[in-house]
Amino acid sequence: MASQFSVFVSRSRSTDPAKIALEESIVAALDKEPHIRIHVIPPLYDLRPGSLAVQAMRDAAGDTAVLSWIYERATRWVLHSLDVRGFADEVSEAESQETAASSDRRRRTLTCLDLRSRPDAASFAEAIRQLAQGAEWYESAPNAERADTPGSGEAGTLERRWYPVIDYARCTNCMECIDFCLFGVYGVDDADRILVEQPDQCRKGCPACSRVCPEHAIMFPMHATPAIAGATGDVVPLKLDLSQIFGGAAEPGDARTLAMSERERHLKPVRPEAGSDRLDQLLDELDEFDARE
Ligand code: SF4
Ligand code: SF4
Repeated sequence: MASQFSVFVSRSRSTDPAKIALEESIVAALDKEPHIRIHVIPPLYDLRPGSLAVQAMRDAAGDTAVLSWIYERATRWVLHSLDVRGFADEVSEAESQETAASSDRRRRTLTCLDLRSRPDAASFAEAIRQLAQGAEWYESAPNAERADTPGSGEAGTLERRWYPVIDYARCTNCMECIDFCLFGVYGVDDADRILVEQPDQCRKGCPACSRVCPEHAIMFPMHATPAIAGATGDVVPLKLDLSQIFGGAAEPGDARTLAMSERERHLKPVRPEAGSDRLDQLLDELDEFDARE
């Protein structure tokens, strides 16, 4: 019986040669490892639930690592939003029990790695080797071979998506977001739990609801502001944004004012020529996303 460790390398949206080289070097470094099954997939955040890459992640045997160009916390909850489950760190005990009941599998361990977090391919490869050596999850699947690249052919055609991602480890189901959003993005499931029901209704570049969520549970992984994109630690940058706009006089409660301004702008089909004042300019800067690409 062989242990199998699955690795998914999510391509960058960009054509930056350095990013492409890093992705390819990681794959090359792990290619010959006997118990590692490596897949290269299109940009994680742009995937849709029915894609081949998502199916491959759902079906992956054994412990799994997902490497992507977004924050690790964002990766974790994007996977959740794509219904890639079965991991031991699922927050809902009921959900975990349901997973266990519907499968003979033990729950697998998920590791998310930010491809910006280490200096080179060798350090990523070494981290993966250590994870694979420590993998506790076994199944009688055939030994790993170099896998084809599920869904990689979609990479050139994938639409760039923009939608909120909920961190259910933080969410208290307070419903602020569903009350705030005027575009019908949010809904509730059968248990009255908040969910992103119509992700494609979200207005590209709008991060407004992330500012009104009292738990900072809403992420936009491609936003330029780390606190909105899913960085962990203090969420001070939200406040720093406000001080830029209000000349340092803002209180944390002003996040709602800013969010309302952002939401208002996305309600307008055409932005007014006049009135493009300093506030609009700063809002544009704040809403700038994907700045790294
Ligand atoms: S506002 Fe935040 S905490 Fe409240 S339901 Fe929405 S995501 Fe959850
Ligand atoms: S970012 Fe704006 S459009 Fe998108 S869900 Fe939040 S409030 Fe709605």
